Amino acid sequence: MSIITTRFAPSPTGYLHLGHAYSALFAAEKGSRFILRIEDIDQGRCRADYIDAIYEDLSWLGLRWEKPVRIQSQHMSDYQQALDQLSAQDLLYPCFCTRKEIQEEIQRAGGAPHGPDGQLYPGTCQHLSNSERQERIDQGIPFALRLNMDKAIRQAGPLRWFDQDKGEQIATPEIFGDVVLARKDTPTSYHLSVTLDDHLQDITLVTRGEDLFEASHIHRLLQALLDLNVPTYHHHGLLVGKDGKRYAKRDKSFTLRSLRENGMSVDDVLKRLGIF
Ligand code: GLU
Repeated sequence: MSIITTRFAPSPTGYLHLGHAYSALFAAEKGSRFILRIEDIDQGRCRADYIDAIYEDLSWLGLRWEKPVRIQSQHMSDYQQALDQLSAQDLLYPCFCTRKEIQEEIQRAGGAPHGPDGQLYPGTCQHLSNSERQERIDQGIPFALRLNMDKAIRQAGPLRWFDQDKGEQIATPEIFGDVVLARKDTPTSYHLSVTLDDHLQDITLVTRGEDLFEASHIHRLLQALLDLNVPTYHHHGLLVGKDGKRYAKRDKSFTLRSLRENGMSVDDVLKRLGIF
């Protein structure tokens, strides 16, 4: 029987809530090897005490994971190497636009198509000449690195990926337009680091909430461009509260910590999640 390696990859931007518990238990249940990864590239929002709380909460749930835990902020050079690989293929360009400038450009153009993350980038900086780019870099204007989506798709050719719940998918990364792969404030992005890490950690089955279903189109493209392994996916439904809304880190009353403090046992949590 082949080994199925799954992972739970929370961002330490708050305490884990019932939705996270569902996701973590789901991943652990599906894998014969279970890995925990801390996705803390957003150093402005992540906190060390939330990392400790993640270990504590997951242990309380009875989960065990392989050590050492990969902490993304300690591996920035890996993401840089991947960016260098994409740059060498001439697939990235610096984008100096502020949010406001992007909005203004979209208004001038009379609108922009909508993607899963909002309106698509209108491509303004793609058309800068090399000397214009250099001039702005020399002036110290901060920039993000965007993927030239059309070129990347041409290079990769048609792609597919498989979701255990929804079946075979034709990859349509174009729905995101020229995505940011390295942000102005942090020299990587969710899409780049998650895709590379799933490869480096030999994840064979990526499980996560269906709010990230579309993101897998980009991840499949990055796997092709960077020559990475292609895992199988399983996007699970999102847990909702009694009000029909998704649990969020801001709902303090549903954090595992506060439920525990209020006397809820692990069995109560499992019952509440209604799964296993
Ligand atoms: N770090 C992401 C989050 O907390 C999840 C990443 C993933 O599972 O792909 O939302």
